[in-house]
Amino acid sequence: MAAFDYVILGAGAAGCVLANRLSEDPRTEVLLVEAGPPARGPYFTIPMMGAGLFEQLTPNSPGPLTYEGYKYSFIYQLEPYGAADKLNERWVRGKAVGGSTALNGLVYNRGNREDYDELERLGNHGWGWDNILPIFKAFEDNQFGPSPTRGAGGPLHITQPRFPDALSQYIIDAAASTGLRSVEDYNESDDERVGPAMAMIHRGLRVSAAKAFLDPVLKRPNLHLATETYAQRLIFENGRAVGAEIRTGGNTSEVRARREVIVAMGALHSPKILQLSGIGPRDVLEKAGVPVYLERENVGRRMLEHFCALVTYRLKNDLGYNKQLRTTPGKILTALKFAATRGGPLATPTGDVMAVFKTRPGLDRVDGQFLARLMSVTDVSGGERGQIDSHGGVSCAAEILRPTSEGSVRITSADPGAPLSIDPNYLATDYDRKTMAGVVRKIREIFERSPLAEHVDQETAPGRSVQSDDEIVDNTIKTGATGSHAVATCAMGAGDEDIVDDQLRVRGIEALRIVDCSIMPTMISGNLTGPMLAMAGRAADLILDTRAAERARRA
Ligand SMILES: Cc1cc2nc3c(=O)[nH]c(=O)nc-3n(C[C@H](O)[C@H](O)[C@H](O)COP(=O)(O)OP(=O)(O)OC[C@H]3O[C@@H](n4cnc5c(N)ncnc54)[C@H](O)[C@@H]3O)c2cc1C
Repeated sequence: MAAFDYVILGAGAAGCVLANRLSEDPRTEVLLVEAGPPARGPYFTIPMMGAGLFEQLTPNSPGPLTYEGYKYSFIYQLEPYGAADKLNERWVRGKAVGGSTALNGLVYNRGNREDYDELERLGNHGWGWDNILPIFKAFEDNQFGPSPTRGAGGPLHITQPRFPDALSQYIIDAAASTGLRSVEDYNESDDERVGPAMAMIHRGLRVSAAKAFLDPVLKRPNLHLATETYAQRLIFENGRAVGAEIRTGGNTSEVRARREVIVAMGALHSPKILQLSGIGPRDVLEKAGVPVYLERENVGRRMLEHFCALVTYRLKNDLGYNKQLRTTPGKILTALKFAATRGGPLATPTGDVMAVFKTRPGLDRVDGQFLARLMSVTDVSGGERGQIDSHGGVSCAAEILRPTSEGSVRITSADPGAPLSIDPNYLATDYDRKTMAGVVRKIREIFERSPLAEHVDQETAPGRSVQSDDEIVDNTIKTGATGSHAVATCAMGAGDEDIVDDQLRVRGIEALRIVDCSIMPTMISGNLTGPMLAMAGRAADLILDTRAAERARRA
């Protein structure tokens, strides 16, 4: 049976950073296990094409919505939820080397100092901003160069789209007229601000976690990558994690870890493999027919997610991307422009302008965000795929930065191929409902200001007839969707009820850590790739410190 020092399950944002750092010492054998294939081809290269990967079926696919049905993604149909009994929401996760960063929206956002200091206050020693900022700075290559809060020269390129559309500046100026500070780099401060989106894009091409952290070290003879290989269960002996059961094609086998097993399968699949291995809430395990190895109520529970309400506008003119992406001549010109300049809509991230603000006066911190995209699609609330509108449009994804409604994820069977049951429980608390209504109202205020208002024909969603807080929330639940940022399903904390401690070790099992979004106990005030990469860097330090301490003890 193959044995390694570290077995890392999942080659996503966290797994790529870990593989890079843990294999630095050529004496250390590292195996990185990834369910998906290598990320190759134009869809993994051209920023706007990432979404085109979601629904590509595997050859001989067992069918849509099955675990192995899609080549580059996992797609889950959610339980019906909300007063509107929304039926059609699906959650997507990347299944390729690079994980969700291989197909995500590329927006780069680090959250606030307070997000990390809050972790420290919750008893998670070593996770404060002063610990994390140096890690961000070490891996960044920011187009604006080094500063006290920015890094340059690192592997992760961070840029703003070249040749921005005039509409971006109208949105920025209108937002500034409501009191937000217009900034070049919104990651430099935590105040109310607006600016062009920063993105993990280099010379017009996508930068995934794999491109930044894994590809440069894949030649190391001590780093082994197993692709199209599913981790199915963890193997325990005498309270210690000693390996994992994996499946490649039709073959099931075991891999052993001499030092540690590190689960990095993301906020949906890490709780899943724990539950499949008998670590989880007793009722969930018993219902699924999995023998209980360690009863842990919060595996898969306390899930926080950024629900994105959609606020859309129809424009009076053809500003933005709709015309460039809808008509055949527009598409040809857009493709030629990209080929010639690496610019234009194809080279943009999922949002063009980012604004962060307080939804009420007197708050200590910003609590709302929107990401404006210079395009719009036909109504998608019926579940069909939207078509790009024939008129100019803008879509704003509106988020509560730190939502409080808790959802859950649980296995439905002992079969690793069975679908997960996901309950998002969006907008269930009074705080979330009130704050979401505030975010939508702020967007409306901005779109009524010059120089943007002059170009706006009408609000198409939720629509001006929707006015009270309850109406706004109930409508956005129908038309909005997940921000794909779930966290906290194996949360870190100081209490016995928390799944991992501040070294990310699973309580009650030796030699098992979790490193991915599932360990974040609170929501970061922004998008999650950057924070996850930095937190994985911190985790690598902790793992290497453990090894150094053991070596010193033995010497
Ligand atoms: C559609 C989408 C858009 C997004 N847009 C943005 C954005 O614009 N900006 C931003 O900052 N963040 C964005 N995110 C979020 C960001 O990509 C994630 O937060 C981040 O990738 C999470 O890192 P992770 O390591 O926890 O998980 P992932 O990156 O998802 O990695 C998990 C890995 O584990 C693998 N895996 C899962 N199950 C198994 C198994 N059984 N066996 C082996 N391997 C397995 C997966 O294939 C994957 O490679 C987006 C996410 C999605 C899905």
